[in-house]
Amino acid sequence: MTSREALKTYFGYDDFRPLQAEIVQSVLDGRDTLALMPTGGGKSLCFQVPTLAMEGLCLVITPLIALMKDQVENLHKRNIRAAAIYTGMSYEQQKAALDNCMWGPYHFLYVSPERLESEEFRERLTRLPICLIAVDEAHCISQWGYDFRPSYLKIAEIRDIIANSAASNSSQSERPIAQRASNNQVPILALTATATPDVVDDIQERLAFRQKNVLRKSFLRSNLSYVVRQTNKKADEIVHILNRVPGSAIVYVRNRQRAQELAAYLNEKGLSADYYHAGLTSKERAAKQEVWKRYSSPIPNSSLGERPIAQRASNSEASHIRVIVATNAFGMGIDKPDVRMVIHHDLPDTIEAYFQEAGRAGRDEQKAFAVLLYDPSQDKAKARKRVADNYPEEEFLHTVYHKTCNYLGVGADSGQGACFFLDVNDLCRKMHLPIIPTYSALHLLSQLGYISFDEEQEIRPRVMIRVQRRELDNYTLTAQQLELLEALMREYTGIFTELQYVKGDEAMRREGDKATRHELLVSLAQKGIISYVPRTVANVLRLEVNRQAEIRIPENFYVGRKTHYIDKLKAMVEYADNKQYCRSQLLLSYFGEHDASSCGTCDVCRQINKQQRQ
Ligand code: ADP
Repeated sequence: MTSREALKTYFGYDDFRPLQAEIVQSVLDGRDTLALMPTGGGKSLCFQVPTLAMEGLCLVITPLIALMKDQVENLHKRNIRAAAIYTGMSYEQQKAALDNCMWGPYHFLYVSPERLESEEFRERLTRLPICLIAVDEAHCISQWGYDFRPSYLKIAEIRDIIANSAASNSSQSERPIAQRASNNQVPILALTATATPDVVDDIQERLAFRQKNVLRKSFLRSNLSYVVRQTNKKADEIVHILNRVPGSAIVYVRNRQRAQELAAYLNEKGLSADYYHAGLTSKERAAKQEVWKRYSSPIPNSSLGERPIAQRASNSEASHIRVIVATNAFGMGIDKPDVRMVIHHDLPDTIEAYFQEAGRAGRDEQKAFAVLLYDPSQDKAKARKRVADNYPEEEFLHTVYHKTCNYLGVGADSGQGACFFLDVNDLCRKMHLPIIPTYSALHLLSQLGYISFDEEQEIRPRVMIRVQRRELDNYTLTAQQLELLEALMREYTGIFTELQYVKGDEAMRREGDKATRHELLVSLAQKGIISYVPRTVANVLRLEVNRQAEIRIPENFYVGRKTHYIDKLKAMVEYADNKQYCRSQLLLSYFGEHDASSCGTCDVCRQINKQQRQ
């Protein structure tokens, strides 16, 4: 099948969008490719189409579980077989997914980068008929990017594993092995919506590109007006703007409490809003996102703040949320085309983050606005504080390391491999540490390799049965409770002695069941029969090496990172301060596009035009 046939057959599209055809061809030619495309440009098709045109399996590495599930679902709707493996799946589910990919006509296997570190997964990889490695959100591989994920660095190793296994396996597999380049190298397609010139180099280097090869679509967003509003009454300004421009909106804030408070404030002012942050469980997040996605925006007005809305959107009942007030946990992979407005309450850390988040407005190519609220003196002071918080003194790293070990009860020269749920607030309270710099120190210690520290991991529910089997007769139990206890005893052998992770609620609820598993477990815990720790979100800390007397920070480790962070933040402040240059041009030149013309619709262009008319 040619790529065009695949495009038509599976997706129903007649034509590629700009640059898609070139990217697809580059992959089909077996070349490592870095594709830079703005959000909404159609990146997914760039690996989906060539995979379908080839014989074989595409390994898709993507950082967000929500995004994975979304894509797998979309592919299923098109009758394309795809599987995903992520934290939270049981061993059996993972095994089934891998088996399917090995033997079934599966085309896509989505995995989170953390998975690449698992020995078992690596071993299975060698037996999969992989024809392409797609790396989504590829900027995550660069420490200079704004969203560095250390496990992305494993991708180059994975590539070697696949190459080395290819030759030896091709004769054993019952599935036809995909065509591969003569040296058995499977091509890599790296995709990102944002990368500055230095990150572009870094990505190719770290993914071990055989040859440099970048395909770039202009980042120009001609339907998006960039606006900076100076104000020291940000909440009121948000109400004002939202009352003037109808349609779906995202308001980005920097902290969770603020998200909650601002959403409540907007509701008070008659604007339907909800909040979203990483402290919510994935179920809660998905529910909020879903309700917000259902809101459909009316056709947009042409300019910001020039006239009030003639009519309010027809769907502003409680079941539709117009505004989502969120931390930066909200966004990646959200495919809502008619977002009319993205407002930033605070300065993001980098232009990259800003561009990415602002770019979620107007994916339908209709008029949309990206508004940054800016209180110069306050925001600059906050930026300075952020630098200090993010890069605490070296001495402080030592302090946090030892206090955390003490708090967790880890003695000298021991602890390697031990894993803990870490309540950072409690740690800080008991050990007299400041919260935000402590988080930063934990992340830095993680980058230094002493620990690994993953925030907000979803922890599956855990159960232990506290009574002997024969004592159960002494309790009055419903049939459902008994059935559940029996199922637990059957499935989890250690359940009488230790808390065991149990499967999610979905698996349990059947047609006609009165109570969910959660409710049943709560009722059993109340009777004292079991200990039950419900599904939760927690920070996971693992000691990578035994507790050291001293931690060593390589020269430049700290200094380089800190200056880099400061430079990025400075560029963001300059963007906010700028009253001279077209904002669109300014952003584009930051990403290496220097020949764009002025947009005519940002606040600076409008101001200049106004002055010229006078
Ligand atoms: P990105 O990952 O770059 O943000 P997506 O891959 O999610 O973008 O694509 C955005 C939307 O554009 C999707 O709804 C997708 O189906 C649609 N799309 C992509 N390519 C084409 C095409 N060639 N023709 C029509 N629609 C397309």
